[in-house]
Amino acid sequence: MVAVYNHPEAGRLAALGLFALQHRGQESAGVATHDGERLYLHKGPGLVSEVFAGNDWSGLRGNVAIGHVRYSTAGGTAPYNAQPLRANYRGGEMAVAHNGNLTNAEELARLLEANGAIFQSTTDSELLVHLIAQNRGGDFQDALVKSLPKLHGAYSTVLLHNNEIFAVKDPFGFRPLCLGRLGEGWVVASESCALDIMGATFLRELKPGEGICLRNGGPEKFQAVEAASPAAACVFELIYYSRPDSHAAGKSIYQYRVRLGEELAREAPATADVVVPVPDSSNPAAMGYARQSGIPLEMGLMRSHYIGRTFITPGQGARVERVKMKFNPVRELLQGKRVVLVDDSVVRGTTARKIVGLVRDAGAREVHFRITAPPWRHPCCYGIDTPDEELLIANRMDPEEMRKHFGVESLAFISMDGLMRAVPPTMQYCTTCFTGRYPDGRPRVSNTSAKKAAAAT
Ligand code: SF4
Repeated sequence: MVAVYNHPEAGRLAALGLFALQHRGQESAGVATHDGERLYLHKGPGLVSEVFAGNDWSGLRGNVAIGHVRYSTAGGTAPYNAQPLRANYRGGEMAVAHNGNLTNAEELARLLEANGAIFQSTTDSELLVHLIAQNRGGDFQDALVKSLPKLHGAYSTVLLHNNEIFAVKDPFGFRPLCLGRLGEGWVVASESCALDIMGATFLRELKPGEGICLRNGGPEKFQAVEAASPAAACVFELIYYSRPDSHAAGKSIYQYRVRLGEELAREAPATADVVVPVPDSSNPAAMGYARQSGIPLEMGLMRSHYIGRTFITPGQGARVERVKMKFNPVRELLQGKRVVLVDDSVVRGTTARKIVGLVRDAGAREVHFRITAPPWRHPCCYGIDTPDEELLIANRMDPEEMRKHFGVESLAFISMDGLMRAVPPTMQYCTTCFTGRYPDGRPRVSNTSAKKAAAAT
């Protein structure tokens, strides 16, 4: 998700920013701009490079823009769910791009429908559009501030209203959102790596509950919604989801992942010949494990860069096929070796089993499987697509059963203490998927339920 304010090529720059954020969603992409008179929108299914294949920016006029790449956790993959979502209402035109997942989507949809709302998509992100449109009196910012307390769950959101841009973060700050400077203009993005590609300078991360309005030449800060205490930034962003060249609390995500590997090597040493990452997301952690243990690092698995993230591929069948297309072992590095295989997480266990199988088939003598996330036992309802509890392997098997299931000599997950030692101590985290402690204290809504709820709208 990106926003660009006060730049003559806002539409083009927003699309450029989306290239850097492609890892956050590969189902659809889009950019909306405004030239002070009307809103322009270009979006569609596919990668950013596909949606903007023509490199023709003439249809995206104006010096303000917002952009989005979609990864469906609620509402499914239908083309009408591509964002930004656009709406005309009595206050003008707006476009919305949302990262995260709302946990009260079903309840809100029923209330809005009772007030006459007709939904054009099945994504929970549209709920905010209707809440704003149904607000009477006041300006757009008033309507936004009155609407946000009705949303529960995770939302880092950018909105385009006429030629103003708003950026808001939910009370817990689940998903990242940062502000940058670009010459005379300003940029907002889900991760700092998007600022780099746009040539912007990182200024700061938005605080939980904070709102920023970009108008009259610069940012005006406002309290979008009351901040929760403690906050709950998604710790999985640091383990896997964010790009390693993005930043959190003053350091690159890469550095935290190296620390995760070092912690894991201290907690779960192995006697082995090589440390091999499951590329690319586990490369820094494997480097940390190798450094701490003194075992040489080898890139024993190669990854095709033309295949997307398996974690965010909808559908189990497609996910399994993609593993085979995505990884290939370098036999010479693995044959006869005792291998420490480092991965960032195990959710269903299907992908992990296949990857271990590849390493075994390539002739590894022993495999010691090390995971830089604790066992994943609870579904995420804040924007990372995970199956219901009974499908999570850590709930179906004890550690010894998992070890046998994967076919490895030893298996170890980082501990919660180890994880907390590796990530920045200045931040407060959501760890729900590992601990079952839901920060908003509300009844858990699984992704499956959230999907059904949003689809029911
Ligand atoms: S439940 Fe896990 S994946 Fe979801 S927001 Fe919390 S830490 Fe992140």
